[in-house]
Amino acid sequence: MKKIFLFGNWKMNQSLRATENFAAESAAFFSERPGLKAETEICIFPPFVLIPEAVKNFTNLGVTVGAQNASDHGEGAYTGEVAPSMLKEAGCRYVIVGHSERRHIYGESSELVNKKALNCLTSGLIPVLCVGETLEERDAGRTTDVISDQLRKGVKDFPAGAAYVVAYEPVWAIGTGRAASAEDAEKVCRLIKDSVRVPVLYGGSVKPSNAAELFSRPSIDGGLIGGASLKARDFFAILKNF
Ligand code: PGA
Repeated sequence: MKKIFLFGNWKMNQSLRATENFAAESAAFFSERPGLKAETEICIFPPFVLIPEAVKNFTNLGVTVGAQNASDHGEGAYTGEVAPSMLKEAGCRYVIVGHSERRHIYGESSELVNKKALNCLTSGLIPVLCVGETLEERDAGRTTDVISDQLRKGVKDFPAGAAYVVAYEPVWAIGTGRAASAEDAEKVCRLIKDSVRVPVLYGGSVKPSNAAELFSRPSIDGGLIGGASLKARDFFAILKNF
């Protein structure tokens, strides 16, 4: 059986108390499913300020912690930025780069996303490179071109054998309740996997009712989950059907 990646992107949500509660509920779930650690790679991506609390509470459960963003610079005079070296020191393992909310709300280009990813690799962090087409691009039949372009630019100059993950997140499926069909998601994830040969996750309205069908496809190694990762009950319910 393949190892399932279950990545929870909390976005700009949660609190110290919610982080503690999430960990306590996770512990209960792990004790019900002792085999879970071996079958899954679970990572929670809290807002920066909750990372230390998450590391403190999750590490002994075998749940890793990641960041939702990182600077393209090293330490220095960059007000408001967080360097990958700091995230590494705080206990992070993964960093999301190029999430569509960063690309579309904050105008991050594929070139900037690539610089951030390279900077993460230098600090020993594993980038989770997000790619995805908008509804307009999909309707214009440009999905393959858009994904190939974001992917090519995103992994430019990666050293051979670099450890990273790609998340295919169609923009029209994020937070809309309208996930891609398993067939469509598989098609794009296959395209990605054929070109980069690393774990490929699907993201966009993953929930307990659609996860099993999506994750059972051969090119989908798991999910990057937003809304359904905020409550431990929903997040772990995603795994119930496996
Ligand atoms: P969603 O978000 O699961 O709420 O659609 C996914 C994401 O943005 O990573």
